[in-house]
Amino acid sequence: MQLSQPDRERIAEWIQTKCGQLRCTCCGYGIFEIVPLATLPIGVDLHSMRFFYAHGVPQVSVGCRNCGHLLIFSSEIMGFKPDAPPPVPIPEGAK
Ligand SMILES: [Zn+2]
Repeated sequence: MQLSQPDRERIAEWIQTKCGQLRCTCCGYGIFEIVPLATLPIGVDLHSMRFFYAHGVPQVSVGCRNCGHLLIFSSEIMGFKPDAPPPVPIPEGAK
């Protein structure tokens, strides 16, 4: 999900309210940038090598402008409810 400017402003306000001034745990820098795309990590079953798209927690990432270290927040807790997850693709020959 592409985050609009109002989305990013809302996220910045949420972080300020809940966390105060962020400090990077790697370099100590205090300026962060909200990554303009919310993401959903995918899981992989290492035995079948199937991907699971529906089990991840939707995320918003905030990156340190100095070293690039990322902080990950749950977008659902922030109030962004995603649409239904995409269907899990069935691999070729897995019937
Ligand atoms: Zn940093």
